[in-house]
Amino acid sequence: MTKLTTTQTIEDNNICGDCRQRLNKILTTDQYSEAEIDLLHRPKRTLTFAVPIRMDSGEVKTFNAYRVLYNDALGPGKGGIRFHSDVHLQEVKNLAFLMALKCSLVNIPFGGAKGGVEVDPRTLTRNEVERLSRSFIREVHPFIGERTDIPAPDVNTNSTIMGYMADEYAKIRGYFVPGIITGKSVLLGGSAGRTEATSLGGAYILKTYLEHIRKDIKNTTVAVQGFGNVGLHVVKILYEWGAKVVAVSDSKKGIYNQNGLDIETLLKSEKIGALPEGYKAKEITNEELLLLDVDVLVPAAISHQITNNNAREIKARVILELANDPITAEADEVLEDNGVVIIPDIIANAGGVMVSYFEWIQNSTNDYWTIEKVYSELESRLVMAFKKVIQESNQDLTDLRKQSYRLAINRIIEAEKGRGRL
Ligand code: NAD
Repeated sequence: MTKLTTTQTIEDNNICGDCRQRLNKILTTDQYSEAEIDLLHRPKRTLTFAVPIRMDSGEVKTFNAYRVLYNDALGPGKGGIRFHSDVHLQEVKNLAFLMALKCSLVNIPFGGAKGGVEVDPRTLTRNEVERLSRSFIREVHPFIGERTDIPAPDVNTNSTIMGYMADEYAKIRGYFVPGIITGKSVLLGGSAGRTEATSLGGAYILKTYLEHIRKDIKNTTVAVQGFGNVGLHVVKILYEWGAKVVAVSDSKKGIYNQNGLDIETLLKSEKIGALPEGYKAKEITNEELLLLDVDVLVPAAISHQITNNNAREIKARVILELANDPITAEADEVLEDNGVVIIPDIIANAGGVMVSYFEWIQNSTNDYWTIEKVYSELESRLVMAFKKVIQESNQDLTDLRKQSYRLAINRIIEAEKGRGRL
């Protein structure tokens, strides 16, 4: 058996940054073989390819694109495709790694994957976005499939784009294969409940944690950073369950009312910037929202919002990570020392991939579920996975992130061993 030291680096094809630091934290405290360490640090398959499209002007432009399959021991790859100007291979690898852990932790039969195109979609017309989506599928189609690697939406991609991609794949195969991609519109085989799945999953996880610490959700104050799909729905759900949502923000500004925001008006407005005159709230910055004295802070916007620079000033008792990677690895340690409980992204926001899994089951069986069935399956499966994390973190005296990583990693290793590949 080999122990990995934190200073040891494994370069080239491997994950980096926070993902690597967190993985190494487990690998340095538990015993793993060299082969296991090597397998966990690197993706199984990394594709870098060029996606050419004809622009409306007639000229041809080519974009860099990526698809990474991190692990397939538990099942086919699963993970979104993002369109963003900052997409690069290293980021895609790290996100694919997080997907592998997430699927393993919540016990769904998928490995992890991720893809992306380095493009600012705001610079493209609707027709150019469609041609880009179709071109991506033409280039990547030999490497994806309903039993090998199943894409989904991610940043700046949506059900419309999934529809173009599914259609392009159908042209290549000669027939429509709904299970090739998830996050489709319901008409094309998407699942009921996918839009709110990530937020509802996070809310079930938070409710479970509050019950565990015997805190009534009705006496719980919440601040939510981000008011997009995930932020809006989590505000709505927690408000309906009786929590007091005191602050919300988007990329431009935040609003705060210590007695609780008027959520009905906020939801009707859909955007913080569209609130009516006289709305009772104080304007705050995004930075101020993160430092509010609340029971629960919900980062639901972008990564790396809580860092070494602000972690010491965080006053929330619990952080529910609905965004991917909102806290840096260094900030984890500061928060842990200050007794702040972090409910990590790989369980807190796993509701999205869970309902994608339900969509894939429905596509495979042609048996479409009611919204009630989707919600009840989502709750029971997520809560079961999270209770195991809580129970084992109490036994092992570790934090929830470390225990989540440990459970996810061990399940992947056991599956690799079961297949005789380790
Ligand atoms: P979205 O684009 O709909 O919303 C993002 C929100 O964040 C917007 O309100 C935007 O104004 C705000 N924002 C952007 N930059 C900000 C900044 N610098 N400071 C504060 N707020 C900022 O995205 P979404 O689908 O709601 O996803 C939010 C997060 O949840 C992302 O990290 C995403 O990776 C993660 N996530 C989403 C899903 C899903 O199903 N949508 C699943 C898992 C994880």
